[in-house]
Amino acid sequence: MQATMLYGPRDIRFEDRPEPEIYQPTDAILRLSATCICGSDLWPYRGIGNFSEPPTPMGHEYCGIVEEIGSAVKNIKRGQFVVGSFATSDNTCVICRDGYQSSCVQREFMSTAQAPLLRVPLADGTLVSTREVPPKELIPSLLATSDVLGTGWFAADAANVKPGRTVVVVGDGAVGLLAVLSAKQMGAERIIAMSRHESRQKLAREFGATDVVTERGDEGIARIKDLTKGTGADSVLECVGTQESMMQAIRSARPGGFVSYVGVPHGVVLDGAELFFAHVHLHGGPAPVRRYLPHLIDLVLKEKINPGKVFDLTLPLDQVAEGYRAMDERRAIKTLLQP
Ligand SMILES: [Zn+2]
Ligand SMILES: [Zn+2]
Repeated sequence: MQATMLYGPRDIRFEDRPEPEIYQPTDAILRLSATCICGSDLWPYRGIGNFSEPPTPMGHEYCGIVEEIGSAVKNIKRGQFVVGSFATSDNTCVICRDGYQSSCVQREFMSTAQAPLLRVPLADGTLVSTREVPPKELIPSLLATSDVLGTGWFAADAANVKPGRTVVVVGDGAVGLLAVLSAKQMGAERIIAMSRHESRQKLAREFGATDVVTERGDEGIARIKDLTKGTGADSVLECVGTQESMMQAIRSARPGGFVSYVGVPHGVVLDGAELFFAHVHLHGGPAPVRRYLPHLIDLVLKEKINPGKVFDLTLPLDQVAEGYRAMDERRAIKTLLQP
């Protein structure tokens, strides 16, 4: 088969790789219906952060049909349509049972999903199957549950979004936009999206944003205070991972409010004294998408939500390099890849 490899900054190649095989009895092999490029893939693509000896296989968002299972797999069956998270989980350890599957004691991070075939470890705990093979038009939304929607949902949940609350979403990438959708589903009364890009503002409003703030930094914080009678928001969802976005989030929350952070941090440093007097609840990390998958898949299958709208570019998998370029240059919010 051919699969996606990163050779160095902005050097994506689609090249011959060995087909995955069952390696552990708890593995499954999927034939992917769709895969995609994540905002977090852009960090190594741009040469930021430590990335392992090149070439690096890429991709961690996926859904597809089970092609093969290991001898110990009990719940997942050949021919089923399944969705899994970017983090594998046994779903039985104490951390999983508490709902933090993305920190499972047996966790592995997926990293070979921009390919036609994928090996998924811990198949029984990682994958969620649907009763029937879903219609083609629902595939983009089901794929979105695999990471971006699951992560946006965690952002809203971790920031204690409830009916009647005022919510601020920092970041207008796919996760930020789906954090808006999630806050709306959880009954937030007011949802303020911070975005400077017109096409993204439009989608944010479609997903439920009631206000858009285009300012950033101190000006952005002042605008949020203006909109919240001077106190700050009940819940602030940080969906970027930079120092600026993190401070924006903490300073936009009211004392006693909640700040969640789901953007992979790059160089974020917090000041103890500022944190002390901010008086906010902080909760974040790699989203335990597996906790939410059954509910999110159900919402998609019942067509109550349409998170697949974040994919504004669809390409055949062999044009993956163009998919990265489009996202890097912000010509696309998120690229769906068809094997
Ligand atoms: Zn991702
Ligand atoms: Zn576990």
